Amino acid sequence: MDFDLIISGGTIYDGSGSEGFCADIGIAGDRFSAIGDLSDATAARTIDATGMAVAPGFIDPHTHCHSDVAKDILHSDNLLRQGITTVIAGNCGGSGWPVGEHLAKVETLGFKSNYAMLVGHHTIRSIAMEGSESPWPSHEQTVAMQEMVCRGLDEGAIGVTAGYAQRHETFEEIVAITRPAAEAGTIYASHIRSEGNGLLQAVGEAIEVAHETGIAIQISHLKTNGPSNWNKLEIVLAMIEDAVDHGLNVAADRYPYIGWHGGSTNVMTRWCYEEAQKRGGREHLKDTDIIEQFRREVAGLLAGYGGPDKLMFTSLSEPDPEVDGKTVADLMAQWQVEAIDVALEIERRNAEHRIGAVGFTMSEENLKRILAHPLVMVGTDAHLEVFGVRATHPRNYGTYPRVLGKYVREERIMSLGEAVKKMTTMPAERYALRDRGWLRPGYFADAVIFDPATVADTATFANAHQYPVGIPYVLVNGQVAVDNEVTAAEHYGQVLRR
Ligand SMILES: [Zn+2]
Repeated sequence: MDFDLIISGGTIYDGSGSEGFCADIGIAGDRFSAIGDLSDATAARTIDATGMAVAPGFIDPHTHCHSDVAKDILHSDNLLRQGITTVIAGNCGGSGWPVGEHLAKVETLGFKSNYAMLVGHHTIRSIAMEGSESPWPSHEQTVAMQEMVCRGLDEGAIGVTAGYAQRHETFEEIVAITRPAAEAGTIYASHIRSEGNGLLQAVGEAIEVAHETGIAIQISHLKTNGPSNWNKLEIVLAMIEDAVDHGLNVAADRYPYIGWHGGSTNVMTRWCYEEAQKRGGREHLKDTDIIEQFRREVAGLLAGYGGPDKLMFTSLSEPDPEVDGKTVADLMAQWQVEAIDVALEIERRNAEHRIGAVGFTMSEENLKRILAHPLVMVGTDAHLEVFGVRATHPRNYGTYPRVLGKYVREERIMSLGEAVKKMTTMPAERYALRDRGWLRPGYFADAVIFDPATVADTATFANAHQYPVGIPYVLVNGQVAVDNEVTAAEHYGQVLRR
């Protein structure tokens, strides 16, 4: 036999960004071995890809898989079925820790896609500052965090990530924890400080970190949140382009949806939430002197979303038919109450049902401009899903097919070649993944075979647990991991260390 596997007759999109060309692909072991006319060659198996596109396996730069792995969920089927052959976990400031132990666990238990991880700033911060009175780290604690970044990188992490969940992270602290990652020549993925009202300052701060440390920065899930911020995109893109023109290494990723998915606390402002907690539960708010302030905050928050019809509730555990799939506006009508009463009632029910919220607060026009921008790659922001369990964001099942179907085939916001580049070589080069990303001889044989005429997402906000269509085959390290839309039980992924 000349090869273990031949993919014959497909149109190859090699990751360069150019349009496809017709050729056969020979795979030997875990690598692409030959590309060309292989009609006389022999192989243990041949997959006929006539009429299909063949691309390098998709590399997802933005996932939260590490938190699922920590909970012993290792089914990556929802990602693999999209064509994702490599995931980068540890984003928005959270990661597995210690990195070495986490990666060893993935290796031991097995994973269906390849797996790489960043070191999370929040994760190491909470360890370094355990028991600390102050929300700001001391010099010693900062040094401890820097040492943990170094250790994480030594143990195989491919960069560092920060988010701003605790809101006390100063610019200086971010620079301090980023510097060791810069010195190691790795990347900093940032869930920036604000994606709405403070967007411009936040993008500026991210660029300033790149300027200060020289690190490559990835702005995670780039968006303009809230209608009053939609007109900022022009400036945001100009800032990023300008930084790149001045020699800084800045890029971004984005998922192809205008709705986000978060906890029920998104129905009130942070101030309300903290005030309510301080007063021993939201129930007590009803009779206090701060009720007017609370009313104004909730109304202002919803106005910022674009109105009470832009926030929809979904149950994260037990279904709650009373509120599932309903917006704040729906519930105001249903219960004949004001928005503040809906917010309080949702928080009361949250204890029993773990209610989530979906906010349709982004702009479709901006989404298209962001996705098509040459400095932006595709990323899911996904979790690992147990099929059919809990309400979740459709991006967990539909991101890549949605870009290929809705945005490339139907809306033509970019060519198929460019879209494949954003899913393969761009993240591979940016995250320094050795021998991956290209469909070329010598590279690892991660590949996706899809039908450009039919590929589509089917997952929705109402029912996210639906696999895409038009992606019959996915190869991971030369093995057929999805075979005619059936996911193999074997774990063909490898842990990718720095
Ligand atoms: Zn994030």
